[in-house]
Amino acid sequence: MHNFLTIRNLKDRTVQNKFNIIIVLIIIILLFSLLNFLFSMKVMASIRSYVGGEGLWSKAQKEAVNNLVAYADTQNQADYTRFLTFIKVPLGDRQARLELDKAHPDLAVARQGFIEGGNDPADVGNLIFLYQKFRHVSYMDSAIRTWTAGDAGIQQLIGLASQIHAINVMPLNHKDPQAKAVRAAQLAPYLEQVYTTDSNLTSLENKFSSTLGAGSRGIATTLTRVTILWTVLIGLLTIVISILIARAIIRLDKAKSEFISTASHQLRTPLTVINWYAETLLTQKHSKLTANQRKQLSELYGGSQRMTHLISDLLSVSSLDLGTFKTEPKNTDVAALIQAVLKDVEIQLEQKHIDLTTNIEPNLPKIVLDPRLLTVVMQNLLSNSTKYTPSGGKISILVGIKRQHLIIKVADTGIGIPEAQQSQIFTKLFRADNAKRLDSNHTGLGLYIAKAMVEQLDGNIWFDSIENQGTNFYVRIPMDGQISTAGKGPKDG
Ligand code: ADP
Repeated sequence: MHNFLTIRNLKDRTVQNKFNIIIVLIIIILLFSLLNFLFSMKVMASIRSYVGGEGLWSKAQKEAVNNLVAYADTQNQADYTRFLTFIKVPLGDRQARLELDKAHPDLAVARQGFIEGGNDPADVGNLIFLYQKFRHVSYMDSAIRTWTAGDAGIQQLIGLASQIHAINVMPLNHKDPQAKAVRAAQLAPYLEQVYTTDSNLTSLENKFSSTLGAGSRGIATTLTRVTILWTVLIGLLTIVISILIARAIIRLDKAKSEFISTASHQLRTPLTVINWYAETLLTQKHSKLTANQRKQLSELYGGSQRMTHLISDLLSVSSLDLGTFKTEPKNTDVAALIQAVLKDVEIQLEQKHIDLTTNIEPNLPKIVLDPRLLTVVMQNLLSNSTKYTPSGGKISILVGIKRQHLIIKVADTGIGIPEAQQSQIFTKLFRADNAKRLDSNHTGLGLYIAKAMVEQLDGNIWFDSIENQGTNFYVRIPMDGQISTAGKGPKDG
């Protein structure tokens, strides 16, 4: 019982394992519905075969009676032979029925009987199938009883035919009207019985047909209900499975984001120590470090700075993904905020001899927004422009207010973004080919974060770019009457 599937051990399985179980379940359900469909088709085809078989039975019985009546009148042996031929049809069907009623039927004998009953060999399999599977189902049972009752009538016809034949083989002078009248009188009671039997058989045939008709309607209704039930069941199951899968994915995604968040927090503490000591050693006056040691230390400092940025990116991404990012709007001096961000890239701009122009609208009022978000957006846009603009290039920043919106434009004369890849630029971890060739050290998270942050501020971010000429990024944040004069409104930032 160790491997038995219970709800408890289902919970302990891995997600992959659960998906495998679900896939197997879906395959089983689909196989069942396919079998259900094939079974329904087979049952309906079998009923049709019985309707056909009954038609052949009735027709042969009528023809047998007609030929027997003709034989009584004409004494023509050919009519009698035809009677014998036609009567073989119900006899064949009877042979099949008797065989199938046995505990261990010989299917070859049953098959042979149905073929003698005039049935198409292609239908015989269906006839046997329905008889064996539905023998005791009400309609089929009643139809079979009617069929069995018909056997007595057929037996009677055979008996009457042999008596008529016995009379007819006696010599008769056809030119003697009296002898003919005597013969007719001898045959009359037998013919009377033939007509009665025929009429009894006709009513049995009608009964058989109507029972089969009612049966087929009943089975069709049942099968339709089963099919509807099955379809509804599959539909519901698919919905339940989809919900389970979606929940598992969401749980997994959440667990992953939580893991990244925890791991990043843990990594930040030792990195802060490394950064702090490296910075202290590098800025120490009268340092005893050799030029080589200083170079190595700045490499170490650069690397740990990059790692700090990466960790802060990962923290932003995980809190955005987890939906735990809380905005704290304050009165914000956007001009001061941009100046502070520019300080961070100042050294790099200088090293690369990049010409920076800032054009910030004078008397820009304080704006109510979360300054941490705008800082992250500006850091990403400016560090990108600095990274992707070659030495000697130009970067310009334009800040202003237009129709109750704060507008920021960051333009550069850098490598640009290839047109074919422009649609993917805000996707998590995406980097254009020319950027990867230029510098393989980055992650492709910056713009994803910047876009999410701008959206948190209810704004939009977009760009235009020409490869090898430059890129312009635009940010537009609504102010919705939030312009505040210094000192008023929420906390000052
Ligand atoms: P990263 O800079 O770490 O690669 P980002 O998400 O900040 O990731 O940017 C995604 C990609 O967008 C970059 O890899 C680069 O291909 C392109 N890109 C962003 N800003 C610029 C720019 N100013 N000039 C040229 N390409 C840019």
